[in-house]
Amino acid sequence: MSSTKDGSIALFASDTVAAGEACANMAAVVRRQLELLGEDPERDGLLKTPERVAKSLTWLTRGYSLNVHDAIGDALFEVDSESMVMVRDIELYSLCEHHMLPFFGKAHIAYLPNGKVVGLSKLARVVEVFSRRLQVQERLTEDIADALEEVLRPAGVGVVIEAVHLCMMMRGVEKQNSQTITSALRGAFRDDGRTRDEFLRLAHNGGSYHR
Ligand SMILES: [Zn+2]
Repeated sequence: MSSTKDGSIALFASDTVAAGEACANMAAVVRRQLELLGEDPERDGLLKTPERVAKSLTWLTRGYSLNVHDAIGDALFEVDSESMVMVRDIELYSLCEHHMLPFFGKAHIAYLPNGKVVGLSKLARVVEVFSRRLQVQERLTEDIADALEEVLRPAGVGVVIEAVHLCMMMRGVEKQNSQTITSALRGAFRDDGRTRDEFLRLAHNGGSYHR
């Protein structure tokens, strides 16, 4: 692709080659994992598994190649309102960094605008940027709050995440139904009791994650 005059296309093409190589390397590791588990990677059902796992893992961690500014794009709008903006029940799926097993649940996000608001659907995109990586729930919650603080410069921001962790559910016996709840509170959400109470009441109002 070096013959192209468009530098960005050349870069993109070499990125694609690198991504393909990374995927093949990962597939080789998965194949070896299957052997170490005592499986036969040559049997019918497993033949394409290494490649599938490599692709799916790449997709599930695509947050590494995303960033908040791209996710929000130009969906920032000037406003006069200082009323709380809140989006509840944003679905999230992530992988715990300790076991690389899924944890999943809901995020509730609110902020107090300070001249700027973001398109509501973009909040879910911000969640994707940070959840599609190896994470711990506490850091994921902080990452989302930090990003919104940086982009919106709001008077306050609050993030609550309620999630269940397969590493707890599948491995333990006592934790089958336990949810982990984390929160990150900034600005007025941390310093002003009424704002904090209003947010937490809205966040927890029927917010349990049950299937
Ligand atoms: Zn875990």
